Order: sequence, then C-alpha cells, then structure tokens
Amino acid sequence: LEVYGAPVIGNHEQWLGIVIVLHDITELKRLEQIRKDFVANVSHELRTPVTSIKGFSETLIDGAYKDESSLLSFMEIIQTEANRLETLIEELLELSRVEKSGFQVDAQPTDMKAVIEYAIELMQPGLTEKNMTLKTHLTPVNVAGDANRLVQILMNLLANAINYSAPEKTIEISLYENRNQAVIKVKDEGIGIASAEIPRLFERFYRVDKARSRNSGGTGLGLSIVKHLIEAHHGKVEVDSTVGVGTTFTIYLPLAS
Ligand code: ADP
Repeated sequence: LEVYGAPVIGNHEQWLGIVIVLHDITELKRLEQIRKDFVANVSHELRTPVTSIKGFSETLIDGAYKDESSLLSFMEIIQTEANRLETLIEELLELSRVEKSGFQVDAQPTDMKAVIEYAIELMQPGLTEKNMTLKTHLTPVNVAGDANRLVQILMNLLANAINYSAPEKTIEISLYENRNQAVIKVKDEGIGIASAEIPRLFERFYRVDKARSRNSGGTGLGLSIVKHLIEAHHGKVEVDSTVGVGTTFTIYLPLAS
C-alpha cells in the first residue's frame, strides 16, 4: 500500500483537514514480479544451452577432436543444444507476437475436422516413434478461425499428449458441436497433472517437471502460446486431469456464422 497525505489549508490560512490517498499497489507489484521472473527465466533458459555449446566446442578444440567417438558425440550434443536455442528463440518471438495487445487472428470459416486431420498427419512421426494409438471421433464442424493457428494449437496439444505419455498408450481426439460452439477434446493416458498445478499450467515457462520437459525438448512456453491463440479466437480452454491416469484438454471455439 502506498500512502500520501497532505494538509488542506483554506483561503484564510485556516486548517480544513487532511487529504489521504491510499494507493493499492499489490497488483503493480505482482506484475513487476512476473516481469522480473520472466527475464530471469529467459536468461537462464538461454544460458544453459550456450554453456554446453561453449564447453563442448572448447573441449573439442583442446584435443578431443582427435578421438573419433568423442568427436561425433560432442558434435551431436552441440547440434542438439543449438536446436534447443533455436526453438526457444522462435517460441519467445511467437509468444511476444501473440501477447501483444491488439493481436488478432484472421477468422475465416474453417473446416475443423480437416484442421485436426492435418495436425495429426504432421505429428505422425512422434506417434509412430512411441508406438502410440490414435483414435478419432470427428464430426464435421465449421469454426470461425485461422486454419494455420488452429493447426498450431492442435499440434501443441498433441505434442504434449505424446511427450507426457508412456509408449504404446492411446490418444483420443474428438470434435463435435454443442450449444452453438465447437468442442475439441485431446485426451491422453499419460502421467497426468496434479490439481494444484493446473492453475499455473498456462503461465510462461511453467513446467510441472522441469527435467522431463527439458529432455523432451520442451520450453515451457507452448501452453501459454496456445492459451493466447485460443483467446484470440474468442474461445476457451479447460484441463481435466488425474495423476497416473491421464489428461484431457478441451477447447471451445465459436462456429462460423
Ligand atoms: P513444455 O514445453 O514443457 O511441454 P508446455 O507449456 O507445453 O511446456 O506445458 C507446460 C507443462 O504442463 C509441461 O512442462 C508439463 O509439465 C505439463 N503438461 C502439459 N501437457 C501435459 C499433458 N498432456 N500431460 C501431462 N502434463 C502436461
């Protein structure tokens, strides 16, 4: 709380009273803290891959290049870390685009079933790699949306369903119309999310398990981007999860008029 006080003196120098202004700065402080945390997170996330790239390249230059097996494995680490840096920078730029006030999507009548089928096609390598089964229940629905952005949303949710599930599990995607809205569900049989974590899930850089997310190439930015994109479509996203059983993300989108 910020407090300002000032005496109020009348025209004839008489003491009329005192004005006190109480200014609640809780929200300002909270926003300032979020901004500071964000900068600290970005710096940390950028520094980690740079440190490994520097370390491994120095080791190579200092002589490790002479040993063929170290040469290959160190170069692979450098490549992985450079890729991580690239993803992180791209996602940061994307986040700053979608977070800008006034960010809008170009909403056109869009065949949501085709969008989902396309996103599945793009994620097929990930599904095949983990030998996962994908079931779909798709009713044709036309939504008001930007097809590319909708593919991006679906790919993010599918990538998470794959990343946070054990191999051979099943993912189910459904699409139907309810109460004048399109409803899309992405359901997995993965590790699940504790209910205490759910409110923070869409925060920038929030990860339930940092190590697991990092190993699967996650940046912790995907769901915050997804949330902004869904809101730019005037839609809504909900999460329902049970630890050890699985997670369902439900998206509601407006229908094409
Ligand atoms: P990340 O790049 O780490 O996957 P996201 O923003 O996409 O970042 O997700 C944030 C966190 O939410 C993840 O790190 C993970 O802990 C959790 N999460 C997201 N989707 C799922 C899911 N389908 N099952 C379990 N946990 C999930």
